[in-house]
Amino acid sequence: MIAPARPEYRVVVVGAGVIGLYTAYHLLKGGFGPVLVVDRGFLSSGASGRNGGGVRQQWETQATVRLARESVAAYRRFGSDFGYNVWFRQGGYLFLASSAAEVGQLRSVHAVVQKEGLASRLLAPNEVPRYAAGLALDGVHGASFLRSDGTLYPFPAIWGLYEAIRSLGGEVLLGTEVLSVARDAGRVSGVSFVNGSVKTSVVVNAAGGWSKEFSARAGLAVVNQPSRHEILATEPLKPFLDPMVVRLSDGLYFSQTMRGEIVGGLTVPHPPGIGAGMATSPHFLTSMARALSTLVPRLRSLGVLRAWSGFYDDTPDGLPVIGEDPRLTGFVHANGFGGHGFMLAPAAAQRVAKSVMGEGTDLDPAMFAPGRFLGAPSPATVERLQLG
Ligand SMILES: Cc1cc2nc3c(=O)[nH]c(=O)nc-3n(C[C@H](O)[C@H](O)[C@H](O)COP(=O)(O)OP(=O)(O)OC[C@H]3O[C@@H](n4cnc5c(N)ncnc54)[C@H](O)[C@@H]3O)c2cc1C
Repeated sequence: MIAPARPEYRVVVVGAGVIGLYTAYHLLKGGFGPVLVVDRGFLSSGASGRNGGGVRQQWETQATVRLARESVAAYRRFGSDFGYNVWFRQGGYLFLASSAAEVGQLRSVHAVVQKEGLASRLLAPNEVPRYAAGLALDGVHGASFLRSDGTLYPFPAIWGLYEAIRSLGGEVLLGTEVLSVARDAGRVSGVSFVNGSVKTSVVVNAAGGWSKEFSARAGLAVVNQPSRHEILATEPLKPFLDPMVVRLSDGLYFSQTMRGEIVGGLTVPHPPGIGAGMATSPHFLTSMARALSTLVPRLRSLGVLRAWSGFYDDTPDGLPVIGEDPRLTGFVHANGFGGHGFMLAPAAAQRVAKSVMGEGTDLDPAMFAPGRFLGAPSPATVERLQLG
């Protein structure tokens, strides 16, 4: 599609990543159209086409565990709901702790997760090989494991959502940047592109790592900060690894795809902001190679096939921003998902859609609403389990 079909939409969603597409899907399923989704890139050009595909329910906050558990159920149904196989494999998530303090953190996560009825396990180092063979365990003080966590392929999820939106009568306009948000008496009244504009009373900011930039285009300063993260894929190996493995101390994470590749990343420092592009760096490649081959010695001579990066959209309390901005009626946030937007998208975007439709949600505004950052000294709840 190269131009909007209508002069006016009930909702314009900015960003055709997993959050924007799922939001549009839930709106259309709720009969709340017409909906236009606009993206300046191609499908999957943002973080939704650049991530590790990890889907986990081990979190520190009960609310996040609930969103993640609901999202796991949605990904299990994805094939029958959308007709696309996302290859969701529930091989578990194995968190490794490298100090007594990290064991304490896993213990408190485990308590929250168990209370929600999920069968997570705390492991002593000598129990780890039962869940992931071939790890060098010196330095490992403990671990946690939840079998129903897993990994998926992000691309078919994006394709399935795109097709579903179109079949429900929604429009997706690619290669078109939203340059500004028009307002009239404190309310959203439209958006403009380089070659035109459309009227609308609701704009959803699902611009991922560019959400801060886009909020600024509506005249709104926000606390979100983009951060660049790198990831790689190796040549394939015979399958040997079921879970996603995550080390708390340095953010190393990796899993094995169904093709046998190891896909994973590691947190290395980058200057803040979105200026640096989305390529890889020699520092990442050497740090990742060292970390991975020390923890999994059998990977020592494995070749790297591809490496790339993408942007997280971070918030100070580690929780997403969901709901209408109190400073501008009709400007709805669906951003701040850090490194975890794919695993929360089905459930979180449903809440975004409900908030657009005026139905109210079960989310605590003190944890998720945009207003929590306005005027308050610091938000009350902090989700710190931010890796992998
Ligand atoms: C290396 C890496 C690994 C990750 N691993 C995981 C993981 O294992 N599991 C997990 O759940 N999450 C992971 N994530 C995070 C996850 O990918 C994101 O949280 C999620 O994809 C965010 O989706 P989104 O739709 O909000 O943003 P995006 O997918 O980034 O989409 C935003 C879109 O907005 C568009 N846009 C921006 N500004 C404008 C504008 N002005 N006009 C029009 N369009 C605009 C962009 O082109 C972009 O396509 C990872 C991220 C990275 C970078």
